[in-house]
Amino acid sequence: MQKEILIVGAGFSGAVIARELAVAGHNVRVIDSRDHIAGNCYSHRDEKTGVMVHTYGPHIFHTDNKEVWDYINSHCNMMPYTNRVKATVNNQVFSLPINLHTINQFFGKTCSPAEAKDLISSKGDASILEPKTFEDQALKFVGKELYEAFFKGYTIKQWGMEPKELPASILKRLPVRFNYDDNYFNHKYQGMPEEGYTPIVASILNHKGITVELNTHYDHESKKNYDHVFYCGPLDGYFEYRYGRLGYRTLDFEAFSVEGDYQGCAVMNYCSLDVPYTRITEHKYFAPWEQHGSSLCYKEYSRACGEDDLPYYPIRQMGEMSLLQKYLDEADQEKNITFVGRLGTYRYLDMDVTIAEALEVARHYTQAIAKDGDMPAFVINPR
Ligand SMILES: Cc1cc2nc3c(=O)[nH]c(=O)nc-3n(C[C@H](O)[C@H](O)[C@H](O)COP(=O)(O)OP(=O)(O)OC[C@H]3O[C@@H](n4cnc5c(N)ncnc54)[C@H](O)[C@@H]3O)c2cc1C
Repeated sequence: MQKEILIVGAGFSGAVIARELAVAGHNVRVIDSRDHIAGNCYSHRDEKTGVMVHTYGPHIFHTDNKEVWDYINSHCNMMPYTNRVKATVNNQVFSLPINLHTINQFFGKTCSPAEAKDLISSKGDASILEPKTFEDQALKFVGKELYEAFFKGYTIKQWGMEPKELPASILKRLPVRFNYDDNYFNHKYQGMPEEGYTPIVASILNHKGITVELNTHYDHESKKNYDHVFYCGPLDGYFEYRYGRLGYRTLDFEAFSVEGDYQGCAVMNYCSLDVPYTRITEHKYFAPWEQHGSSLCYKEYSRACGEDDLPYYPIRQMGEMSLLQKYLDEADQEKNITFVGRLGTYRYLDMDVTIAEALEVARHYTQAIAKDGDMPAFVINPR
């Protein structure tokens, strides 16, 4: 029953599947086209400042899933960490997500929770009965002033689209809290790995049944040497982009360092259109247990992903979804391959969801071979 497995991609998806299948007794080869493991969660120490850097943008681990929390904790020392994001708007600093402090500061008031609720509902545009777009929804929920200050410019910069071109479903719930809770996430568990994310993935991959090869790009020729392939690369890339490219946003990071501290927090969003970047990350604030005299920061710019850029955020608007369907139909015709992860399924996935899905895919495979059954191209439906 021992199988030869190829895994394309040494990020969380590939590493977790590799580990599960190696533990089950299979021979697993993991390849990655980059010169490092950990995919987009890769972190490294900056030589000059000694600061731990989230190389591909800020990553905070948060989840409600106990199995995933236990899993990650078995591969690292997770330090207590709460993500608290600030926003600079019109030369003032506010707390995000919009909470009672933000509302009182923004409107120059001292509202109680009940008063703030009344204030926000009086601001909402009651004439919008059936919001169709993100803009309608935001205007209905919070009104023009908060929408224009916190949502409009940021959305245009992040997605390169007007909020009236985006669906209302993006803003499902009222994006406002009527208390002083400024914890960015609602999840039960949250933390930051003491030594960054790379050693976690190294620990997951550290098994005698796993070999890892970096700087190695997948080619279709090698597929025939394996019983099964788990592919964490871009779905459209696997098919040589034959129907065109699925749309992504990419990010550019402009690094700069300063003596002392720069902004006093890990993440500062810039919501106005007159500032070209979306946020500044000051990496040392992700490790408050460390001491550093100087500081390294990233200015983050978002733009359309070109052919030679790294794909970050899938756009998933109507045009992309019909293109996606063509690739899904192609993928369903393939044998002995399963597409996984954020690129293989063309979805934004947080790390905890990535790990949970990878565990699920590995279980599915183990059950499929036990019953001599087929392994589908997708264990999780990407639509
Ligand atoms: C800016 C940003 C911030 C984020 N912040 C958070 C956060 O705060 N919290 C959170 O939980 N999640 C966050 N995420 C999500 C997190 O990055 C993903 O959950 C995670 O990277 C998904 O892992 P993956 O293995 O599916 O994909 P990746 O990490 O992208 O790994 C895929 C790997 O496949 C390799 N590959 C691709 N094609 C080929 C090929 N043809 N041949 C060989 N190798 C190939 C790539 O080089 C890559 O290493 C964030 C994402 C972004 C973009």
